[in-house]
Order: sequence, then structure tokens, then C-alpha cells
Amino acid sequence: MAEENQNLRTPIVCVMGHVDHGKTTLLDQIRGTAIVKGEAGAITQHIGATEVPIDVIVEKCGDKRLADKFIVPGLLFIDTPGHHAFTTLRSRGGSLADLAVVVVDINEGFKPQTIESLNILKRFKTPFIVVTNKIDRILGWKVHEGESFLSTYNKQTPEVQGLFEQKFYDVIGHLYEQGFSADRFDRVTDFQKTLGVIPISGLTGEGIPDVLMILLGLAQRFLESSLQYDINGPGVGTVLEVKDEKGLGTTIDVILYDGTLKKGDTVVIGRLGEPIVTKVRALLKPRELSEIRYESKFQPIQEVAAAAGVKISAPDIDDALAGAPIISATPETLDAVIEKVKSEIDDVQIQTDTDGVMIKADTIGSLEAMVHEFKKANIQIQKAEVGDITKRDIMEASTINDPKHSVILAFNIKVNPDAQEMLDETLDLRMFRNVRVFKNDVIYRILDEYQDFVKEQEEELEKLRSDTLIKPGQFKILPGCVFRQSKPAVVGVRILGGVVKNNTDVMLPDGTVVGTVKGLELNGKKVPKATVGMEVAMALDGVTVGRQVKEEDILYVHIPESDSKVLEFEIFDTLTPDEQETLEKYLVIRRKDKPFWGK
Ligand code: GDP
Repeated sequence: MAEENQNLRTPIVCVMGHVDHGKTTLLDQIRGTAIVKGEAGAITQHIGATEVPIDVIVEKCGDKRLADKFIVPGLLFIDTPGHHAFTTLRSRGGSLADLAVVVVDINEGFKPQTIESLNILKRFKTPFIVVTNKIDRILGWKVHEGESFLSTYNKQTPEVQGLFEQKFYDVIGHLYEQGFSADRFDRVTDFQKTLGVIPISGLTGEGIPDVLMILLGLAQRFLESSLQYDINGPGVGTVLEVKDEKGLGTTIDVILYDGTLKKGDTVVIGRLGEPIVTKVRALLKPRELSEIRYESKFQPIQEVAAAAGVKISAPDIDDALAGAPIISATPETLDAVIEKVKSEIDDVQIQTDTDGVMIKADTIGSLEAMVHEFKKANIQIQKAEVGDITKRDIMEASTINDPKHSVILAFNIKVNPDAQEMLDETLDLRMFRNVRVFKNDVIYRILDEYQDFVKEQEEELEKLRSDTLIKPGQFKILPGCVFRQSKPAVVGVRILGGVVKNNTDVMLPDGTVVGTVKGLELNGKKVPKATVGMEVAMALDGVTVGRQVKEEDILYVHIPESDSKVLEFEIFDTLTPDEQETLEKYLVIRRKDKPFWGK
């Protein structure tokens, strides 16, 4: 490797995609690649990540001349796949992963988590590739283990190639639908404009050399500046996981992406509130499998340089947060480092509204991702917090009157047993009946379920309203159809617009309320209401035909002012055109003397 290249660190790669599409298998295959070479003792074992050194990649691709082409030392794959790991692992306001691989099962095509992964990568502007996995499952496919895609593809029959093309271009089509210009990797000339798609089999290793090679190329072309690091600088990393280890107590698994961390270093670690300041008691890496005589799975090391995955044992780290920064400090830099860590955590303290839902998630990264999606969908958020659902959360949500907001939207967390008890109890006691919990490990599902719920609520409210609300109605007394003069008057009418219901008051065009509808009959049968176009017999209490009203008069349903406001300003769009027209006529009459009536 050339001298000037020594300063670029290993790019960090995250594998994402829908469940069962083969993320773990792909990572296992890559790990296998690394470990086979490990026999020569060249590979470093990591905590939570697998490093594939550049010489292994070059050898896989079978062209030694490539060795000089690349100036990164290899690739560091995060062992935990999924967009969850991707958003959890934050650094510098973005994602810790420099690159990503989105796995799509070529036989299944796009699924919700495929789309979710693509959206997240778009938002973070992370360079990535798509792999269409499980090509070995294509009918008639002949496996050529570990070969590059083109090499194995060229050995397939034309029928198999045809089958492959069909499925492959289906995926390309889906990518277009999501707004990506995409093509098979070997046909892409500019990876910045066109997304490279690599057909692979995680199981047989076909296409894996291409994946490694293209990732190296992407890192080199687009990441050179973000891969610059200072090996002598302070260690800077992200907490991957907070874990209890037998014999060690609480430990944190960290991905270090800048500088060097040493045993005994003072480190500042993010948590909600004031950061933790502590000293590294031990730095640990996985013990080689061959060293079985040791009881502990871990081997202490003196120092570690970026990029690397390492376990840290230290006092007082119980409430370190997954996804939070960890930075080493000297007595001179300590105050500034504390400020820096604090401000990074504060950055993700979410802007909230005065009204809205409660959101809870397992890490700050996922909380932020959730808030982003919900804000995009115009959902108000009153509170956003990391952690499981507690009794206090339920109480708090239950005090909110608006059923749309009396909810807890929970991502990847548990409901504490005592909180669950409260929720169950409420079914009987009706105390917290309004609190709804939407829990899932896919953000989009939570969003969908919540939006369906809101729609339901609104429809119910609408129904409730329209049942009790007095709607606009207009009718004409038909000539020659006065069956009774008074007490009550019985007349034939035609409904000119809207609806006339039993027990509603009626009004003359001059604004006087003259009587009440006390019965409607259609073809001799009692009906509760009459709608536009109908001709019915109407009993009118309180009027005498020939005195207040006469044949050919047009009358209106009397709408109280409060109902009129709802009709005009809240649900006008839901009224039928004749109802709208009738309401407008009614308002003209009402506002002749009182211009602000119903406003
Ligand atoms: P994940 O949920 O995305 O991590 O998916 P897994 O890696 O667990 O794979 C799900 C299933 O698909 C497992 O039974 C794998 O053995 C199988 N699988 C994954 N990749 C391939 C592949 O390339 N070819 C075949 N035939 N099966 C695969």
C-alpha cells in the first residue's frame, strides 16, 4: 500500500433490508471470508463488527494489481444488521456507517422494510449498494461457489439467464418507483448518479467479491474526506450496546471511528442529562477460538485504534445510552469534551409541540428517526423519550382529552409489567380506557396503524355529530295539498334541498320560526326524514294554513347557531351539493339583519 494512504481509516458498513431476505447470511458469508484468511493470522477480531482486510478482498477478486488501487485498509462490517442498528449508531449528527448494503430477496422483491431502509439512506445521504440475494434459488441455477457474478452468470443456460433477467429487472423497476435510477453494477459508469445493483447469493458466496470490490470503490470515490482520521488523536466512538457480562458487570460495546483509545483513559460517555465521566478499566476484544483454555470470552488489550469494535469495562456506565458518543479526554480537554458530548445528546432532544402524542423508543437514534417520520406525516408530538413504557406514561397519556393524542407510540420497547397491568385493568374499570398503545419494531407499521386509528376516530366523531346535528333543509307547500288547516296542520310538501327530519323547527323566508315538524308520511307510511326530491305529507304543529303559511310557500329547517357554525366551518365539504346550497340560502336569510350570525 502506498505511504500516503496510511491516514485513511477502515470504512464502516451496515447491512439493511427486509426480514428473511438474507442479511445475516450475507454477513456470515463475509465473516467466513474474513476468518478463512484469519488462519494466516492477518485478521483482527472485533466486538460487534467484522473486518475484512484489503488483501483478503484483493485476493478474492483474483487480481493482485488491484492492491495499489485502494487506499483504505479494508472494510468493517457492523455485525448487527438492520436499519435499526443503522439509525442507532450515530456519529457527528449522521449515521456511524459510512456505507450500506440493502439486501433484497430477488424472488420476493420489495417489502416494507426494503422501502424503509432506502428512505433512511436517502435521508442520511449515505452511499449504498443494493444486492439482489438468493440468485441460487432461481430455477435451474448452477452454483459456482464464491465466484464473481459475471463469472457464474456466463456459465448459466440462456433459459436460466432469461429467468434471472426477468426477476432482476423487476427489482430495478421497483427502485425506479422509489426514485432511484439503478442498473446492474457492471453497467454503471457513475455511481453517484446511478445506484449499483449486485446479484448475489449470500449462501453460496456468488457475487460476494463484487460486493466487496464495489464497496471499496464507493468508499474511495465518495468518502475520502470523511475517512481521514488522526491515529494519535483522542478516541472517538459510538456506543453500540450496553451489556451485562458475567464477571465484568456492566460493559459497553463501542465502535471507535477516530483516534486511539487506551486502557486507563478518561472517557466521557453520553446519557440523558449530564454525561458520564469515567476511566477505562479494561479494553477487551474477542478471544481467538483456538485459545479455549481461558474461561473468559474476552482478551484484554492495551489500546485500540479506529476503526474498530471494542468492549469497554468501566465504573458507573449503567445508564450509558446505545447510540451515544464516547470520547476520551485529558485533564486539559475534559470540560470541552463534556460540552461536546452533551451537545450531541441535546441535538437529538426532540422539538415538541404543546399538544400531541407521546413517542417512546429504545435509543436516541431510533427516537429521532421516528420523530422525523411522524413530523413528516404532520402528526403533533407532545413528548418523545427513550425507554420502556412506565406507569407514569400511562397516567400522563390518560389525562389528555383528545382521543387522537391520548396514545403512546412505541418503537422496539417493552411495556413494564405494572404499566401493562394498568392497561389491562382499564378494560374493566374504564379508568384509563382512552390510552392506546401502538407498539411495533417497524416505524412505518406504527405510523400506518396510528393513522388508521385517527381515521376511525374522526369517522366516529363525524357520525356522532351528523346524528345530532340539524342539517339544512328546504321545502315547498304544494298547491291543492292542504289536508288539514291546523292543530296540527297537515300539508303535502316537496323537499327542494337537503333533508327535513321529524321534530325540527321550521322557518319562513323572513326569518320567523313558525312551527315544528310533527310527522312525515311517504305513501301512507311514517318516515323519520325526507330528503331532496321527495314528496311527503307533513304534520306541522303551531301553524295555521292561511295565517302564517299558505300554499306554494317555501320554508326552511331552522338550524341553531351552534350547529350552523359546525356545518359552515367544519364539515361543509362533507355536505351534498344541495345541502350546501340550502345552507347558503339559509345563511343569507339569517345574516340579512345580523351580518355576524353564526360566525
Ligand atoms: P435476515 O432475516 O435478513 O437476516 O435473513 P437470513 O440471513 O436469516 O436468511 C433467511 C433465510 O434465507 C435463511 O433460511 C437463509 O438460509 C436463507 N438464505 C439467505 N440467503 C440465501 C441465499 O443466498 N440463497 C438461499 N438459497 N437461501 C438464502
